[in-house]
Amino acid sequence: MRIFQRTLSRPVQFSGVGLHSGMPVSARILPAGQDRGILFRRTDIGAEIPASVENVVETAYATVLSAGGAKISTVEHFLSALHGMEIDNAIVEVDGPELPILDGSAFPVAEAIAAAGSAELPARRHFLWISNNCKFHREGSMAAVAPSEELEILVTVDFPGTVIGKQWLKFTQTPENFLKEIAPARTFVLREQIEALWAAGLAKGGSLENAIVVEGDKVLNVEGLRFIDEFVRHKLLDFMGDLALLGRPVRGFFLAVRPGHTVNRCLVEHLAGLADLSFGDSQRPVHAAPTELQITA
Ligand SMILES: [Zn+2]
Repeated sequence: MRIFQRTLSRPVQFSGVGLHSGMPVSARILPAGQDRGILFRRTDIGAEIPASVENVVETAYATVLSAGGAKISTVEHFLSALHGMEIDNAIVEVDGPELPILDGSAFPVAEAIAAAGSAELPARRHFLWISNNCKFHREGSMAAVAPSEELEILVTVDFPGTVIGKQWLKFTQTPENFLKEIAPARTFVLREQIEALWAAGLAKGGSLENAIVVEGDKVLNVEGLRFIDEFVRHKLLDFMGDLALLGRPVRGFFLAVRPGHTVNRCLVEHLAGLADLSFGDSQRPVHAAPTELQITA
């Protein structure tokens, strides 16, 4: 487990289209100093938007952040890559309102971070150690957490009547595991949802180049799947992106049953509140006996 904060050793660059806007966009990830966290910078309008749970304004089809009247959309896969590769501080510059979707996974970003390498900073990481159980339910989804020495995540998905079916995956965070097991998993959509997305003005940049399309028991992408359980791996990728909005590394055992960004956000908001009240520094609290703290959202 890394004790000291890290940033990238050099900038890395990406270009592509926004998933929802369909607009061409370029992004760069730049090194940043200690305790800066992850910051999005819109170079087209000169705005800065910190990646923090207080700045989340939408989670329905993409995670959208807003600060000072400026918005940045579809941040989740970039945040997942930075979190998974254990980059604590970075500036993500983008010349439009949405991050590029790239291949629909976090692999291009995670691979570029791995190739650039990371540099240690003098400050310690401000870990959030989970000391109590807590659990959120929402419309058939659940997100829960219990104490653990590591960041462990168990995710399930359930899409009856499709090739996805029921899948589960248990993951223990290290940058090496993330790059190999989670980052390559692409986002997915059911064929019958696509017209509704287009009618709502969404997914204009979506294609078989950046999403798995599922029709019943078939995958429509000619290249097939990257993993037999690519779907649950992508849900885990999204969960890592949502946890990044805590703005500090967390150690706990997370259970996410049929997760979505909305239930994930309830959990992260709750943990962010705990962070302010109980875990103001990097010192490790004595674990209390786990007590059930059940909040239904
Ligand atoms: Zn995703």
